[in-house]
Amino acid sequence: MSREGRAISDNHNHILASPIESMFESAMAKGAAAISITEHVSQFKEMRESIAFSSYHSEGRIFRDLNEYLAEFHKISDRSTHTKLRRGLEVDYISKYQKQIGEFVARERWDILLCSVHELSDKKDIEESIPENLGIKSLRSEDKWREYMAVQKEAIESDFIPFDVLAHPVRLFAGAKSFPSDLIDEMLVDLARTARRNNKALELNATDLSRNKELVLRLATACAIADCEVSFGSDAHHPSEVLKNVDLALGLVDKFHLRVKKLESKHW
Ligand SMILES: [Zn+2]
Ligand SMILES: [Zn+2]
Repeated sequence: MSREGRAISDNHNHILASPIESMFESAMAKGAAAISITEHVSQFKEMRESIAFSSYHSEGRIFRDLNEYLAEFHKISDRSTHTKLRRGLEVDYISKYQKQIGEFVARERWDILLCSVHELSDKKDIEESIPENLGIKSLRSEDKWREYMAVQKEAIESDFIPFDVLAHPVRLFAGAKSFPSDLIDEMLVDLARTARRNNKALELNATDLSRNKELVLRLATACAIADCEVSFGSDAHHPSEVLKNVDLALGLVDKFHLRVKKLESKHW
């Protein structure tokens, strides 16, 4: 089944580098049923100043507070189109700061919340390369994958925020540059079962699809086995990236008969 006539939502987009109007216009032009704007909590002044994030964008817009961010959504006045705008956040799960981050997020109401793990106990960004030393890189990579999956499960089972989607569940590949092919399927099924039990969707992420299609295919297989819902997110920072790789994601949805997360449209 092709994209024609399907209601396609892009549930993961940023506005730290591009104005909200141009992101929305791109979604509209590409015929999206909905676009979710989900800025990182680390792009807010209060969070950046009080939490020692190990992973954050060193450039891009910092929002003074939630009011300034919410005002962005009011810039989209053309609500007559078929494209819905959802307001959301991408929220880091960092065990030590879950209460503080949870309280920040709970100050407002959201159409969608993504949860993501960007750092592990070594306090390094997961997208940073694992150093090659003593020839034990593959072992370190396996340990990292185990820890990454454990922290993602912990995030799913925590109730620090009422999130809908676990974003980019295989993002560790960006730093690890490999994955334990004999263990990964078991790890992903375990993650997907945890997500299913807790009514969370796992994301088919466009950036991950660009980096390693095989790994996202394995993720989709795990979602099928666990009967876990999926969500599509381009993770776009620029208008041209909205709905990026959506055809690849839809191909996986069709191939494995995956259930796509349905988000309610609220009107705040
Ligand atoms: Zn992320
Ligand atoms: Zn993102």
